[in-house]
Amino acid sequence: RAKFAGKNRYVLFDQKMHDDAVARLTLENDLRRAVVEGQFVLYYQPIVSLSRGRIAGYEALIRWRRPDGSIVMPLEFIPLAEEIGVITEIGNWTMREACRQLAQWRGSHPERMEGVTMSVNLSRRQLSSPALVDQIRQAYGDAGLPADRLILEITENAIMQDAEGAVEVLKQIRGLGVELHMDDFGTGYSSLSCLHRFPISGLKIDRSFVQNVGERRDYAAVVNAIIALAQNLGMALVAEGVETTGQLAMLQSLGSELAQGFLFAKPLEAGKALEFAEHPTRLAFAA
Ligand code: C2E
Ligand code: MG
Ligand code: MG
Ligand code: MG
Repeated sequence: RAKFAGKNRYVLFDQKMHDDAVARLTLENDLRRAVVEGQFVLYYQPIVSLSRGRIAGYEALIRWRRPDGSIVMPLEFIPLAEEIGVITEIGNWTMREACRQLAQWRGSHPERMEGVTMSVNLSRRQLSSPALVDQIRQAYGDAGLPADRLILEITENAIMQDAEGAVEVLKQIRGLGVELHMDDFGTGYSSLSCLHRFPISGLKIDRSFVQNVGERRDYAAVVNAIIALAQNLGMALVAEGVETTGQLAMLQSLGSELAQGFLFAKPLEAGKALEFAEHPTRLAFAA
């Protein structure tokens, strides 16, 4: 009897491994097809200026819309896209589409879009692609977007992977006049002492700090230190993941200038994102 159960278990285990492998292969095939057929869409999350009470920019966030209409979130396919090498193609499309969208809005709504920037996430794999700098130049160039309206976001870990190589690429990117922000700041491996060696123009404080800033003094101290660091290094500072008016009040009192989070808006489809720029201020001053 025991033998029988054991054998059954073995069979079940085998079956699960098989199913996992099939599921992964299917996802991989679907993702490759998605790249060829262009099944991606960008959502845009507003970044607001707290002092001016108006929109400062958008972050473009990718979603995969499958042919059946279902939406796949980036954390569910970006890692696989990196692994199988299609991330450079996806990332290039994202840059081009985000630049095109902001350029279009600037044309149709010049006042609303005055000074507004577009942030695009870069993956580690893109950073090591020799074609990257040309692709960036073409993305804003073909769209007719001024280089300084484009912000590229990179994580500490992506840079630290090959710090020497990264510094060179980042310098070339800044040489174009494009801004560079360090994403999820505080969660990675970079040490504060070498931050000034990277030609970074802004820091985005990770939401794990922001979300505890109201309740925990130690988190508030860290956020305070990051804000001071950004100021001393002449960098822009964005607080990510602001969800409550309490967090907002705290961030304002610590001197944070830019904020992004569900309190203001979730990532929005293009039409809604444009509408947000019309009246972004109510919540910024609700605190
Ligand atoms: P990220 O760059 O740190 O983007 C911010 C993420 O936090 C977004 O998740 C956004 O929806 C979420 N978020 C914003 N405000 C709040 C908030 O108040 N509360 C909470 N709980 N979450 C908030 P999303 O869209 O799922 O993207 C996840 C990550 O996927 C991004 O993190 C980024 O690393 C990556 N990603 C997204 N789009 C792209 C892309 O086009 N290329 C690459 N390489 N990565 C991308
Ligand atoms: Mg980001
Ligand atoms: Mg982030
Ligand atoms: Mg994050």
